[in-house]
Amino acid sequence: MWDNVEMKREKSMKKRVFILIMLISVFLISCGSEKAEVKEKTDVIEAETAVVDEDIIVVEEPESVETDMNTATENDLKTEENTERGEEGSMESAETVESAETVKEAENEDKTESPEDTDEEVSSETEEQNPDETRDAAAGIFEKQEITDEIKQRINGLSYKSDCTVPYEDLRYLRVSYVDFGGADRTGEIICNKAIADDLLDIFRHLYEARYEIDKIRLVDEYGADDDLSCAEDNTSCFNFRTVEGSTNLSKHALGLAIDINPFYNPYVTYPGGVERISPPGSEKYADRSADFPHKIDKNDLAYKEFTSHGFKWGGDWKSLKDYQHFQKAD
Ligand SMILES: [Zn+2]
Repeated sequence: MWDNVEMKREKSMKKRVFILIMLISVFLISCGSEKAEVKEKTDVIEAETAVVDEDIIVVEEPESVETDMNTATENDLKTEENTERGEEGSMESAETVESAETVKEAENEDKTESPEDTDEEVSSETEEQNPDETRDAAAGIFEKQEITDEIKQRINGLSYKSDCTVPYEDLRYLRVSYVDFGGADRTGEIICNKAIADDLLDIFRHLYEARYEIDKIRLVDEYGADDDLSCAEDNTSCFNFRTVEGSTNLSKHALGLAIDINPFYNPYVTYPGGVERISPPGSEKYADRSADFPHKIDKNDLAYKEFTSHGFKWGGDWKSLKDYQHFQKAD
């Protein structure tokens, strides 16, 4: 009976010890796995941080986007740097190399996308601009302004000579749309007397709307204020402080009150000593006004109609000489 009791006690002690050992081992196992889990998590976080760092580096350096060579070199360098981080362990290095490649790929994707983006931006800008340009082209540019310092610098010593008696305040600088001989829309520059500025804006607007062709409209200063050169180049121009060719009288151009239109096809014909003289040189055949040719100003011509209806006189109507290119508004 005693023995039985002793045996029972011993058995229960053994059971308790066994359960205790089991509990301790279960506890130890669970602790160990938690530790491992924590370590894994830390590793992942570190790896993710490394990738994020690289992303930031790659995005911030604009040089890396410029050329493939630069990008490749940079990525190689980064990989080298990462490999050198011994304390991070070989697994992490491998991950970082992978992530560097991923970044590289992502970057390449960016690169392939970015030109398209740029194109899209450009094309959308063009689309935005085109309607404006079309509107401008349709309406044309017809504006006047006073003579600014910038314009003074362009004309001083040229069309605006040192002895010029016309104050700047009496002159206006115009920008006018016109259609050139090729049918293209252009913007011309004119300096004229303020007394005819509005007339010219009105006339050139009508000519433009009717697609009347004018070879070019530039300041005579672009030809060194040389009227012969300007006319030989068929340039339409107005103000030039000069005398009438072959005399000491001031031309109406000197006051900005006269304008020459397509002068090569509408020459200046005089008769010094009874001998016909045609200017500019090369335009002789256009002195025959019975001939039919483009850009000829006669009484059926729109420029003639426009200028005369605005109170201008035409040089083609003069008796002692003929100045077919010339319109002036003066007493
Ligand atoms: Zn003239």
